[in-house]
Amino acid sequence: MNGLFHFRPHHFLCALGFQGKGYSDDFTANMAQIVAVLRGPDGGNTLLEVTHQADHICAPCPHRRGVSCDKATRIAGLDQRHAAALRLKDGDRISWAEAQRRIRAHVPRGALAQLCKGCQWRDLGLCDAALNKLHEST
Ligand code: SF4
Repeated sequence: MNGLFHFRPHHFLCALGFQGKGYSDDFTANMAQIVAVLRGPDGGNTLLEVTHQADHICAPCPHRRGVSCDKATRIAGLDQRHAAALRLKDGDRISWAEAQRRIRAHVPRGALAQLCKGCQWRDLGLCDAALNKLHEST
């Protein structure tokens, strides 16, 4: 096994598109470490356990409030949409390779406009570019 991370549903797509931007230096450094595991050798075998509470990516986030978030309503909407798209339930464990297979199968190009509605990072275009690249790689 290649490690286990807890991921909120919307963080599967965030991890795919991450390019070093985040809410604080600590947040960005932590997420960079997690994403480096996913993109490293054998990263596809990394197990990801679905949670609807603060996860390993949220841990150092300045917006985290215990297991919740000071933007909880908006985040809950993101999680609901992403969980439905990727067929994820609380407690599910899937590999990063399976997560990418589901993204390819269920998240077409252009889908982030609706799925990620309200996310401040989308305007950078990095997440749409990563999604397009994933589709091109198949
Ligand atoms: S637009 Fe926001 S919620 Fe959507 S994948 Fe990117 S960072 Fe995550």
